[in-house]
Amino acid sequence: MKALAIKPGKGDLKIIDAPEPKIQFPDDIKLKVLQVGICGTDREEIEGGRADAPYNEDHLIIGHEMFGKVVDVGKEVSKVKKGDYALFIVRRGCGKCYPCLNGRSDMCYTGEYKERGIKGLHGYQAEFVVDSEKYIVRVPKEIASIGVLAEPTSVIEKAIDDSLLIQEARIPGVKASSWLEGRKALVAGLGPVGLLSAVVLRLRNADVYGLDIVDEDSKRPSLLKEIGGKYIDGRKVKTTDIDEKIGAMDFVLEAAGVTKLEFQLLDTIGINGIYVLSGIPGGNHPVNILGDELIRKMVLMNHVWLGSVNASIGHYNMAISDLQKANLKWENTVEEIISNKFHYTEISKALEIDSSHGIKTVIEWDSL
Ligand code: BGC
Repeated sequence: MKALAIKPGKGDLKIIDAPEPKIQFPDDIKLKVLQVGICGTDREEIEGGRADAPYNEDHLIIGHEMFGKVVDVGKEVSKVKKGDYALFIVRRGCGKCYPCLNGRSDMCYTGEYKERGIKGLHGYQAEFVVDSEKYIVRVPKEIASIGVLAEPTSVIEKAIDDSLLIQEARIPGVKASSWLEGRKALVAGLGPVGLLSAVVLRLRNADVYGLDIVDEDSKRPSLLKEIGGKYIDGRKVKTTDIDEKIGAMDFVLEAAGVTKLEFQLLDTIGINGIYVLSGIPGGNHPVNILGDELIRKMVLMNHVWLGSVNASIGHYNMAISDLQKANLKWENTVEEIISNKFHYTEISKALEIDSSHGIKTVIEWDSL
């Protein structure tokens, strides 16, 4: 079968011939891959950044944001059947620590976890994939056209859900299920993760502001406004003025992966506010910050800064449920986040689409 592979540390992306995986165990499921999204992590891998090949191999099949169709199942599989739409999650636990042994490899303590398409295991940019039923998530056919967005949405669900649980645990009178209602939430960076965050926050009735540096009448701000969010043009409003001009934020989610901005955003957070960092910066650049002032604010205002990565199966299920609700509420708006689709043979063209020309680029392996 065909697959897209790199040489970790070097890049050197190629379409390769790889052995087609087969069902080996009674709980194995084989998926025909339909679509795989490209994100910042894939681009970093292709440019020679963070990526590990499987043990004793020199290449890594990339791709982790997958969506496919079940074509074969082992004898003991009960969660899906042939013909269902489904996806496999990204991370495989270390098998040693408490979180990994209890379905929360996203909180792995040892760091010895593996991730398909990223760390030590081949990914999903291939015609077929096989894995255990433990890692499967069924996707209802009503949201097949946006099923490929389930993985990035799961990462946001984890970040938001953990934030709500933290707020409920530390502030008297707060209920996780309603804390966001009417509260000011800022999303920085209106790429796929930022827009999907805005969707999830609007579904929880937050007063959502989206920060980016594109024209107000362009696609990203338009999608934000369609779901009831408000746009802040970072070229017109200084990040450090947001609290005075719009009001201090109760919840801030950074989805740009730009370190300098990540520090500047600390200034926008209000009393008892929570700040989630979800972007993973690729570089190694020093930044100058007004450290004393930021730390003073953090302590005096009970701020929480929360780094959040990956997601558990539970968060994928929350993502599926929210994508269904979003489709009912805003029809095709979420689908429009998928701005570009390319056949896998056109991978070079797909990679030319940068953030100024598209939102989410998806590689197609077969039609839905
Ligand atoms: C993926 C996560 C993964 C993280 C770190 C992200 O791009 O969405 O699932 O855990 O990279 O490798």
